Amino acid sequence: RKPIEENVDGIIDGLLLKDRTMLSRAITLIESNADRHKKTAEEMLQHLLPLSGDSIRIGITGVPGAGKSTFIESFGLLLCNKGHRVAVLAVDPSSTLHGGSILGDKTRMERLANHPNAFIRPSPSGGALGGVHRKTRETIIACEAAGYDVLLIETVGVGQSEVMVRGMVDFFMLLVLTGAGDELQGMKKGIMELADAVIVNKADGRNLDLAKKTQREYKQILHFLQPATKGWTTPALTCSALYQEGIEQVWETVLRYMKMTKESGQFWESRKMQAKEWLYAQIKEQLERSFFGDNKVKSLAPEVEKKVMNEEMTVAKASGLLFDAFYEK
Ligand code: GDP
Repeated sequence: RKPIEENVDGIIDGLLLKDRTMLSRAITLIESNADRHKKTAEEMLQHLLPLSGDSIRIGITGVPGAGKSTFIESFGLLLCNKGHRVAVLAVDPSSTLHGGSILGDKTRMERLANHPNAFIRPSPSGGALGGVHRKTRETIIACEAAGYDVLLIETVGVGQSEVMVRGMVDFFMLLVLTGAGDELQGMKKGIMELADAVIVNKADGRNLDLAKKTQREYKQILHFLQPATKGWTTPALTCSALYQEGIEQVWETVLRYMKMTKESGQFWESRKMQAKEWLYAQIKEQLERSFFGDNKVKSLAPEVEKKVMNEEMTVAKASGLLFDAFYEK
């Protein structure tokens, strides 16, 4: 087998034939940190870009245990059975630190994974400087070029990753649990303001009444918040991911949202803005990497750092020195 970087045409052809193995290889290439893969990945993406975009990108967040993977499986199966092709990706802030990953456990979403219309990409583990989410947008492009028209992007609700995922999806949903009284108090308003739908999961059995009550509470709160999307009233819904109840209503909500934002032009406007943000995020990241990867910076940093810690040098002066070293003044 040829090394991956020498067979880009093969990968592209495979992608267009909707070959899942080729899609996996394309993503491996995209995620590679090897310099020799970078150019090839860029060229490949340039080819794939015009073939992407005809999709709905959905972000799904919630605290661990909220039922995200159960929901994604039910929701994904529903869509696959409607003839959609569904790709599941994960943005996992914890994997950078611990080497684990939310989708690493292959036994999760087994039924969805076995459906011919589904593609589940486990999140890559490790990687410096947030390597895990660095390539999610590129991966979205590859999945779409391979004919996946519904992208489900999962992230654990811990704060910064939501903002990042919000910036790469069309529709963002927050999965919550009942007994929200306390949770509601403590929940950052900010996260609710990112959501296009709040979904109270586990609305089944003895939990059903409580779920309905929680739904009403969320409705009240949402009423006072700024909606994430202009002109859209963020609904609070209930569902049971486990018993597949209310899942269809979630999809209907997404469709209603798509119709509204496409008619108003907001859908495309927001994708344009996201592409622009992506450009600058990429630049920032590249700058950061070249700065901290610079040998002069690396050799000077410990000394300067110590002086700052001992209050012998101001931060302004210290960063100035590091920049001088970087630019070799
Ligand atoms: P995640 O950490 O957000 O991905 O949550 P999981 O999907 O792993 O679900 C956590 C636990 O809640 C599992 O034991 C699920 O079986 C259970 N669970 C998920 N959805 C539901 C639901 O709709 N109803 C009930 N009763 N349990 C659920």
